[in-house]
Amino acid sequence: MGAVAFEQREPNEQGAVGQGNGGPAAGGTIRSYAPGSGELLGEVPVMSPSEVLAVVERARKAQAAWGVLPVAERCERLLRLRDAIVDHAEDIVETITRECGKPRHEALTHEVTLIADFLTHYCRHAPQLLAPRPLDLHLLKHRKSYVHYAPRGVIGIISPWNYPFSIPMGDVVAALITGSAAVVKPSEVTPLTILKAKAIYNGTGLPEDLFGVVTGYGPTGQALIESGVHKVVFTGGVETGRRVAAACGARLVPCVMELGGKAPLIACADADLERTAHAIVYGGFSNAGQACISVERVYAHKDIYAKLLHRVKELTASLRIGDPSKDYVDVGAIIFPKQIEIAERHIEDALQKGAELVLGGQKRPGPGQFFEPTILANCTHEMTVMTQEIFGPIVPFARVSSEEEALSLANASHLGLNAYVFTKDRDRGCALAERIEAGSVVVNDVLINYGAIDTPFGGIKQSGFGRVHGDDALRDMAEARHVNYDRFSPPERDPLWFPYSAKSLGWLMRGFRLLFSGKGVVQRIGQIF
Ligand code: NDP
Repeated sequence: MGAVAFEQREPNEQGAVGQGNGGPAAGGTIRSYAPGSGELLGEVPVMSPSEVLAVVERARKAQAAWGVLPVAERCERLLRLRDAIVDHAEDIVETITRECGKPRHEALTHEVTLIADFLTHYCRHAPQLLAPRPLDLHLLKHRKSYVHYAPRGVIGIISPWNYPFSIPMGDVVAALITGSAAVVKPSEVTPLTILKAKAIYNGTGLPEDLFGVVTGYGPTGQALIESGVHKVVFTGGVETGRRVAAACGARLVPCVMELGGKAPLIACADADLERTAHAIVYGGFSNAGQACISVERVYAHKDIYAKLLHRVKELTASLRIGDPSKDYVDVGAIIFPKQIEIAERHIEDALQKGAELVLGGQKRPGPGQFFEPTILANCTHEMTVMTQEIFGPIVPFARVSSEEEALSLANASHLGLNAYVFTKDRDRGCALAERIEAGSVVVNDVLINYGAIDTPFGGIKQSGFGRVHGDDALRDMAEARHVNYDRFSPPERDPLWFPYSAKSLGWLMRGFRLLFSGKGVVQRIGQIF
């Protein structure tokens, strides 16, 4: 039953449905099913371009009044949203758990807590972070400058299904703090979670139209990009990202691209075996592996390879799998059947090319969509499981002879979002981390950086560009504008202005040499005369 809503959809690069070519542009409804049970949870409309435009227009009007408020006042009001999220935490957790199929622990810690923390931290620090910033001019000492952070207008946010609350809400909060409005297009498979957030927001007394939601398939996302929004924050797959970036480029709309990942984990010879094993299991199977920063490949040093693999197998074997809305389980559901097919394809390809199936490898009977946490050994880069995004509960292991070999394999990827290094030597770990081609590298932990909302998050290579989270990303959500003004009462005419003459050019050339010749001060002055 859980498959009913998705059966007619086309797979994307990873084989996942939901890339904007599988649904109508308008009309009808989308049904949201619980992946853990197949239960129908609700229905939302497929909104047409004109309906999207209306939501954006209302947001624009609300923003006009919101954007002129002082940052401190906006932040003070936004803390009401934090309080409402705290008050409704169980309700939000329940909605996420049912719609996304993830355990309540993860819905609370990876999603609800993160947004409460985001609001608490940035509502406290934004007045200072977004205060006008004076610039010391090194050359034009007779003038002064400052940069101020103006609201952009309406921010379009297009988000995926795997973190249906924390991903869009982090962007919404950043937009609102910086004085913009936000309109979210959620994934077609998890629209109810953001609508729950919207309902909670509406109860806070904040201007309702400032935060809009448009539901639908890819064409609704496309309509949002074309609606005149002033910036787009897109989180999703690489192939959809290309289309979204092209659509933004055609309209010169600035955009942030948060795309796929293929996080490597390097287990050095001196890694703490027990911690590394636990981290691999958590980092590989949290959210059933459906995270852009999941541990997607392990490069273990030959000295610890066998022991580490054995311990990971033991720990994985003890995981409980099932519908997290009914039971306390560790690993929940797979969002839709196509993700299971992708997992099966990766495993089949790996086994054909010489990998060893250490554990798992099978889907579990329904109701609901489940796949066993799977460990593969003796993997190589000939196998798709080591080179393409899995987005499912599979952890492939490769044996390496040195850290250099691990590093070179870790960097042999078109993606570069997150990476992990495990070693008891923290300094060596950080040195290795700096050489890994990824937006964030974590030493001796996994997934944690997404929860550190004051650190920049985002990818390099085909994992995207731009950042969310962190002070710079908050400033970037606003528009940095520059004002330059006179320091002293200015003369009627500047010496650089018209009319030009041979004499003035001569003085300019002498001045130029004085400033930029590499000689000493006395020689430079002498050169002028
Ligand atoms: P998709 O790329 O399929 O979809 C992402 C969003 O884009 C959805 O809301 C989708 O709508 C919408 N969309 C689809 N086509 C268009 C279009 N032409 N114009 C505008 N919007 C469109 O990703 P998934 O939802 O399947 O999410 C999984 C992917 O997201 C993985 O690759 C994962 O790595 C990545 N991801 C990246 C993160 C990061 O921070 N870097 C974090 C989390 C996930 P609809 O669903 O209705 O088709």
